[in-house]
Amino acid sequence: MKPAPFIRHVPRTVAEAVTILAEVAGKDGRVLAGGQSLVPIMAFRLAKPAHLVDINEIEELGRIASDGKVLSIGALVRHAAFHKSVVEGPLGALLTHVARHIAHYPIRTRGTFCGSIAHADPASEWCLVAATLDATMVAKSTRGERLIAAKDYFEGIMTTALADDELLAEVRLPLPASDTKFGFHEFNRRAGDFAMAAALVSYRLQSGKMIDAHIGVGGAEPFPRRIAQAEAALNGQAPGDKVFRASAEAAAKVIEPLEDHQTTGDYRRDLVRAMVRRALEQAAR
Ligand SMILES: Cc1cc2nc3c(=O)[nH]c(=O)nc-3n(C[C@H](O)[C@H](O)[C@H](O)COP(=O)(O)OP(=O)(O)OC[C@H]3O[C@@H](n4cnc5c(N)ncnc54)[C@H](O)[C@@H]3O)c2cc1C
Repeated sequence: MKPAPFIRHVPRTVAEAVTILAEVAGKDGRVLAGGQSLVPIMAFRLAKPAHLVDINEIEELGRIASDGKVLSIGALVRHAAFHKSVVEGPLGALLTHVARHIAHYPIRTRGTFCGSIAHADPASEWCLVAATLDATMVAKSTRGERLIAAKDYFEGIMTTALADDELLAEVRLPLPASDTKFGFHEFNRRAGDFAMAAALVSYRLQSGKMIDAHIGVGGAEPFPRRIAQAEAALNGQAPGDKVFRASAEAAAKVIEPLEDHQTTGDYRRDLVRAMVRRALEQAAR
């Protein structure tokens, strides 16, 4: 099928983009970034936006930068930018590892990091990264700039705290300490498919004991989130099989799994248990 008719706007600056967004927000206007989610749903006429605000000509949004404390990822940074490490240290290596799990190469050359965060598919790898690592979303509109913490940003399946007239201009990821250990594991039936469950973990070691544990689960619930009970099972303990299993069990116990045509809730709970344990094993290597 072909999309329903729409008007395409092509702003050259963020100021211009938010002005147009303010005008079209009440008239079913949408931002167009990489188009890798929006265009297919328009082609199926599941979405019929009357106006598209195409941000692809806004040079300033292609910026990726680190100030030593935070990695700032602009709205036009494509998934493929992370094929190479974008920042020194463990975060750069983690992002490269995660990026390879997103869709297929052609999609990664167009789709954007911020587009994934705006679209908020429950199984999005970047949404899992944002939730687990306590990202900050930078929303811009004619009303000014608003910073939204990850814990307040994700609200439901493909539902976020972004208002219709807001542009997600940037996502900020805190840079972890250089000795932070990361693990990421996801399960899908075919390479490139959306994950049926995924886990991202990080911790540091102090005198042989794990501290500052972050455990995030994605693809299992309406949106990815940190699992405090699984983190509590790690903090203060030495890494090892028994404690990893206890943490994975805690995550599996508290999630409220989605059910769909390919996965029952019980199966997804089993997957979460396995993903958290494998991510922890990977971090410990
Ligand atoms: C076959 C296939 C497989 C895929 N597999 C995966 C996968 O395994 N994992 C995964 O995470 N993704 C997957 N995707 C989705 C892909 O990663 C998309 O690139 C991503 O979800 C959206 O980014 P985009 O830049 O293409 O956004 P678009 O498609 O342009 O937009 C998506 C939505 O977000 C809004 N939006 C986009 N950018 C902004 C912004 N800056 N501010 C405000 N709103 C904005 C749009 O208005 C729209 O509603 C897959 C896609 C396809 C087609």
